[in-house]
Amino acid sequence: MAESNATYQQPICHDSSHPAKPDLSHPVDNTNKSHWSIDDFEIGKPLGKGKFGNVFLAREKKSKYIIALKVLFKSQLQKGGVEHQLRREVEIQAHLRHPNILRLYGYFYDDRRVYLILEYAPRGELYKQLRAQRTFSEPISAKYIRQIADALNYCHSKAVIHRDIKPENLLLDFFGNIKIADFGWSVHAPTSRRTTLCGTLDYLPPEMINSKPHDKSVDLWSLGVLCYEFLCGYPPFESEDQQSTYTRITTCSFNFPPHVSEGARNFISLLLVIDPTKRLPLDNALTHQWVVDQSAKSDDQMFPQRNDK
Ligand code: AMP
Repeated sequence: MAESNATYQQPICHDSSHPAKPDLSHPVDNTNKSHWSIDDFEIGKPLGKGKFGNVFLAREKKSKYIIALKVLFKSQLQKGGVEHQLRREVEIQAHLRHPNILRLYGYFYDDRRVYLILEYAPRGELYKQLRAQRTFSEPISAKYIRQIADALNYCHSKAVIHRDIKPENLLLDFFGNIKIADFGWSVHAPTSRRTTLCGTLDYLPPEMINSKPHDKSVDLWSLGVLCYEFLCGYPPFESEDQQSTYTRITTCSFNFPPHVSEGARNFISLLLVIDPTKRLPLDNALTHQWVVDQSAKSDDQMFPQRNDK
């Protein structure tokens, strides 16, 4: 795997309020190193397979700092026509600093591959947990939703829209906290709103399906879809075929199974609103009674032994 002429590049930052300073709490950042190469890392077990390459557990040799190394093949990136998307992902993710956003410490490349130096999320994909458990309890769902809403609020304050919030793009750290990963579809909110069709079908908001201009409120819709899927085990507009899903989304036609509480129904219904301007803003989502009350109970569910004392 080793190739010697790999070079490190400091991503370009468009947001002057958020300069690319090394974060002193992270040894990998702390080295102030300007040229990473594969020789700086010991490569461990594979953590997963993506569309354009693989992710490995790795350790920076000097600091012994554990990271996840994403290895992407240039040929596959070119074939998929996603080089611009990757560049955008790197530029955006490298400059975000939030406890619920996966850190991207840097990148380097050689003739055939691009390497992303990522924060390691030991509990892996939230998607796998959700499939294994089928649904999450209301306290756990509310805790995840609160963390995601807080991270999105931070992104929006930096004029970044994620646009692809779904369980597959969420990882869990050692303590079971959310780490938003995969900024492949995110954009720096432009002055004129964009009409690119992106995101996964079940999570697409009506304005994107209808190719209308969209803005940061696309992430509010996705938050509603996500909360529904956490509690029900399937997304709200799921159908046998694509056309029916589109129709159900554009008419906002969904029902709740009986076990979903009034509070959760109210929260989700305030986010799944066709008119993007009428969706519950993130500040209000964070103070919604259901989110506050249920997320406060989540520690009791994650650490039940505490109650025995
Ligand atoms: P991706 O190419 O981003 O879809 O990653 C492929 C798989 O690798 C994911 O589904 C995860 O299971 C795993 N993975 C990616 N990034 C990390 C990370 N930072 N920490 C732990 N596992 C990861």
